[in-house]
Amino acid sequence: MSAPLICGLCGVDSRRISPDHNPWSRYYRAIYCVGLESQEPQLSGLTFHRRGDEIEYLPPKAYQRFDDEGLDPLSLITIRGFRPPGALELQEDASYAWGFRFHDSCWKLVEQASAPDPVNLKLLWRILLSVPHTATLPLWGHNFGGLYLGSRRDYPRGNNFVIIGSSSSLIIPSAYRDPLEVPELTTRLAQQRIKTGDTASLNAKPICLTASSTRSLDPFSVLPVELREIILTYVATEDILSFRLSSRVIAATRLSQYFFQSRFWARRELDFFFDAFLLSPAEKAGIDWRELYRSSKARIKYNMVGLGERNRLRIWKQTVRPLTQAIHEITRLSELKGKSESDWPQELADGAQATWTSIETSQCLDPELVGDITRQLYRAEIELPSSKIEAIHVSLIDFFGVKYISGLAFETEHGEDIELGYIMPGSEEPLLVEASLEGFHVAVDYCGFKAISPYTSQHMQSEYLDWVGDKEDLPVRTLRCSEGAVRRIRATFDGFRMQSLHLP
Ligand SMILES: [Zn+2]
Repeated sequence: MSAPLICGLCGVDSRRISPDHNPWSRYYRAIYCVGLESQEPQLSGLTFHRRGDEIEYLPPKAYQRFDDEGLDPLSLITIRGFRPPGALELQEDASYAWGFRFHDSCWKLVEQASAPDPVNLKLLWRILLSVPHTATLPLWGHNFGGLYLGSRRDYPRGNNFVIIGSSSSLIIPSAYRDPLEVPELTTRLAQQRIKTGDTASLNAKPICLTASSTRSLDPFSVLPVELREIILTYVATEDILSFRLSSRVIAATRLSQYFFQSRFWARRELDFFFDAFLLSPAEKAGIDWRELYRSSKARIKYNMVGLGERNRLRIWKQTVRPLTQAIHEITRLSELKGKSESDWPQELADGAQATWTSIETSQCLDPELVGDITRQLYRAEIELPSSKIEAIHVSLIDFFGVKYISGLAFETEHGEDIELGYIMPGSEEPLLVEASLEGFHVAVDYCGFKAISPYTSQHMQSEYLDWVGDKEDLPVRTLRCSEGAVRRIRATFDGFRMQSLHLP
């Protein structure tokens, strides 16, 4: 029996939308694995959702479509859920496919946000297996623009994480509009053409500078105007004014059409309005980027956007952009460091090692999610030498606007580094350890560890602890080693964040 189609990017549930009025919502793809995770995740082909179908069938390859002639019916796959198959399920069906489904329109937004690179499926899969899930949706920390009722965890302290419940009764018309094909945007592009009588203003000469002494002091004066224009395309719009104030030559360099086009590039301020780049070269050639930029900013400022545009903005800002940024951040992480030990969770659970104490994220303990989640956790253990620990170098990763600890490196007095978790080389933040390391103070929210401080033998309770990370107003929890100085540390990690910390 096929599950109802609910898109993990926009949150729209196919049962709440009229497919006849919203044909876009019927086309979807999946990112999936067959069998166990040893296999690489793949993007399926395009398929078509029919309400009431007993079983869905997806073409296995990204370039295929459900209506391709000569599609081998035996090659088609069915997504059975978010969960990897158990031993019994694998025994019954070696071709068991599992994964996450997205509207084709929403998927194309992710592709645009990743442009010019293709979406890194392996890292996206790693994120999808790490975030909490309900039975139908990955949880990004928001309620999909009000489509669901949300309850906040870790309330009332610290950073709140939204767990979504049942569908909300709000009617949100924009949520049912195609976020990819937006007619208002197409119309606007057709209107923002360079007028033929307007060539004078395009070719206007930059203001001539007369003070030659000022020019010789200005390092930009040696650059040809074309190079200055290219430099300007790499400057964020909010920094343009101060950049122009710092240099008279730059101030005199006209902001070109190319500069205004660069405001629409991937990861730039108007990257969500990428439609002009999808036009044919002939259509693109006549676009007045300056005017397009000005009018787009004004329309967003005064919220004069149509329903399709509004839906695109919602999905882009809430999910697509932070997700592609997270993929980019994860590319900077090392492999998981530390000795992996597959048997120690049981050891902790059955009380044989009752002397281990631990702190975990509340997500690990949430009774409402247990059973629904497929989160994969990886365990690692390190042993520290008997020499003194001088410093802890903390790696932090930005995920949906929140910084979490991804790994720790312990530096000994001999300059040796012992690493635990995912290290971000070049971006670690140091914590000095003044005396013998006996534990940690941590601030933990629903999804991860947000801040850490060493607990040492000369420790005095103080609110002026030396912290790395932002503990905001989360409660400070203390993990102490019962054996005095810390010699062994165990921790669990999801695909990129620390999830628990254990000391003997
Ligand atoms: Zn969607």
